[in-house]
Order: sequence, then structure tokens, then C-alpha cells
Amino acid sequence: MKYAAINLNLDSLGEAYGFPDNYKDPSFFEIADRFMMIADKYDFRYTIFVIGKDLLKPENQNKVKEWASKGHEIGNHSWSHPLNLGAMKKSEIQEEVQKAHEIIKNTINIEPKGFIAPGWSTSRKLMEVLIAMNYLYDTSVFPSIVLYPFLLKMFLNHIGDRRLLKIFHRSDLLYFLYKKRHINRQKAGNGEIIEMPLPTNKYRIACWHTLAFMIDIKYFLMIMRSCLKDVQAFYYLVHPADLASQDDLDPKRKIHLERLSHPLQMKLELFEKAIKEILADGRKIVTLEELSKNCFS
Ligand SMILES: [Zn+2]
Repeated sequence: MKYAAINLNLDSLGEAYGFPDNYKDPSFFEIADRFMMIADKYDFRYTIFVIGKDLLKPENQNKVKEWASKGHEIGNHSWSHPLNLGAMKKSEIQEEVQKAHEIIKNTINIEPKGFIAPGWSTSRKLMEVLIAMNYLYDTSVFPSIVLYPFLLKMFLNHIGDRRLLKIFHRSDLLYFLYKKRHINRQKAGNGEIIEMPLPTNKYRIACWHTLAFMIDIKYFLMIMRSCLKDVQAFYYLVHPADLASQDDLDPKRKIHLERLSHPLQMKLELFEKAIKEILADGRKIVTLEELSKNCFS
């Protein structure tokens, strides 16, 4: 049996707005409900990586509890989403991982087993922290040159933003040259962690849903198929923006969010197209925890 996972990286509107009080975040409600509708339709479970700080809101916590009770896996996406996480001091990395770990554990009574770094900003130090905390797997590695146009795009989107300079402050700028493309084990001290890099094809072209909005769908599906063909631990990375609409935004707040000009119906169809492609490859969609275990069994 071949497996795949859907990685829902919950980059919330709340985070984009700077975690305001008295703000009900559609990322946890209307937008997340659209993702859940697709999961119900195709009968699969997501792995949802949440930002710790978002769980300070009881209404967001309740939604995360509800998702966990339906069998979706909840992973750690750091406490405050610093875009230079991998390049921070080890003690600061530790704090980012630990605080998010604790609030997730207290919310769902299950310890998170997987991690993804904000903006894929990873490093050896981050792996050491995750291994020391007994994490089973990590999905922070972006082993593709496609990272560069993505960083440039992020930079342009954040002009005037407090986080602008952090975007290029990272320790993994050469990972595209030498990092393993396939699932592997990273060791530190007496422990190890399963590393599941973002799926790429043999030319190291990466595949995740954002790309489907940026290039012709015909070429996107070609890339997706070449990744499915080549990658055992295939997971498909999606974000709230993929199913967000203009109506989900707060007109009073400024934001740099992409892919909002597309009608919601088109976005739903595009996402379903990708799901069908994964299923057509003969894969069963499981959580990332199950995917990582199945690849080593
Ligand atoms: Zn993020």
C-alpha cells in the first residue's frame, strides 16, 4: 500500500494581523470548515500544524480539540511564528518549540509528534531541539532552489512589515544543493528524528499547493505527478489562504495575503483536483505520523 498525507499548515489570519485581541479568526472557523468539508467528502484526516499563540484564544482551542477528536493529527508550528526560527539562538528555538508543545498538549491531551518551521526556516540547532524533545518527525526542509523565488516573493509581500529583515536571516540557504530529498533519519546525541522534506521531483522542483496558483495547472499537475512517482513519503502542503476568500478578511486591518483574487469555487475545485491526483496514484491518505511510521516499517 502506498500512502500520502495532507499537511495543513495553519498560518492563521490572526498571526498575519499580529495576534489581535477581540478578533474571531476565520482560519479556525469558516476557512477551516471548508477544509473539513473536503476531508469528509474524501474520507481522510489532515495533519494540522498550529501556531501556539493562536491557542491562547479559548474559541480556537475548542476548534483544535474538535479536530483532534475527529482523528486529525495536531502538529507544532512554533509559538509565535518567527520567520528566522532556524537562525535564532538555541535557547530561543527551544522556547518557541516548548511553549507551543505545551499549549497543544494541554489543549488536546496528546503530545504533538511533528513539527514544521515557519517559512521552512530550519537548521541543525532546530533538529537538536526537536530530538531532545522526542519529536518523531519534522517537515521543515525545503530541498529545492524554488525556495529563492519564494523568499523573494515573501520579502516583497512584507515590505513595510516588522518581519521584513528576518526573511533572509536563515541557516538553510544552501540546503537545496545537498540536503536529502527523501525521507531519512537525522541523529543527535542519543536520539533521532525522521526528516520528511517537502516533496520534490528528480530535478528538485518542489510541489505544494501554492504553486498551483502560480503556474499553469497543466504544468502544475505534471510536477505533482513527477513528485508522486518519485517520493515515497509524499505529503501535500496546503495553507488557509488556499481556501480563503476576500470576505474572510477584516476590512479594517492591513494584510499581505495571496491568492485572494480567485473565486472560492475555483479554489475548492483546484484543491479537489489535487486530492484526486493523489488518490489516482493509488495512495491512501493518512496522517503524517502514520506516513512517517509506514515508510520505515
Ligand atoms: Zn507558517
